[in-house]
Amino acid sequence: MDGPMTLADWLPQAESITVLSGAGISTDSGIPDFRGPQGVWTKDPAAAAMSTIDAYLGDPEVRRRAWRSRRDHPAWSAEPNAGHRALVDLERAGRLRAIVTQNIDGLQQLAGSDPELVIEIHGTMRDAQCLSCGLRTPMPQVLERVDAGEEDPPCAVCGGIQKSATISFGQSLDPDVLEAAIMAARSCDLFVAVGTSLTVQPAAGLCLEAVEHGARLVIINAQPTPYDTLADAVLRGQIGETLPRLARLASGADL
Ligand SMILES: [Zn+2]
Repeated sequence: MDGPMTLADWLPQAESITVLSGAGISTDSGIPDFRGPQGVWTKDPAAAAMSTIDAYLGDPEVRRRAWRSRRDHPAWSAEPNAGHRALVDLERAGRLRAIVTQNIDGLQQLAGSDPELVIEIHGTMRDAQCLSCGLRTPMPQVLERVDAGEEDPPCAVCGGIQKSATISFGQSLDPDVLEAAIMAARSCDLFVAVGTSLTVQPAAGLCLEAVEHGARLVIINAQPTPYDTLADAVLRGQIGETLPRLARLASGADL
């Protein structure tokens, strides 16, 4: 073969693909990202400060505001998009090892991904969890109480403070979930980071885990990331176009 191998040459050889997805895969579904140019935290740094566990536990007004924001979250009416569906296609082609997602919106499962293959490293907004006894309740059930006038609905069992089952700033990741994500990074032959700024650890470090264990790395993101120099390919196009193209190539289909 003449010249260096291109994406189209080696993508079809990938047999076990782990994907790390971030907010960028859900923006086409109408869910704003956090750190992009139009991101929630870029435009309102105070909103990030509100997402700390200490503020949540210490200030009832923060909790009341958080429940209203959960109730009004765009994810409740959002539909999965072409990027999510491309990962379902990859799964059906038998090439997907796992999807590690930083997203809490549950859209990947709504698109049809096997929930067993989706590792929600930052938790999910579709459940509520008691911070005292750990009881998990489907979020819509708790939001019905908010609609009925409870501004900060306590745990139905122990009366403790409840929160979405997500990782706030100041909270540790679930060690079992993190371990599953690391194993998925170490055991793939292609690692695709899509729609993530790769600035949040330990999620971003999964790129390095994958490369150190022999995987190729593809990064799909609108802005540069700290891992671009490590990547075998960096794609800047629209995720809704780039990811389906990558999935077709990786599935061995013609373009
Ligand atoms: Zn409880």
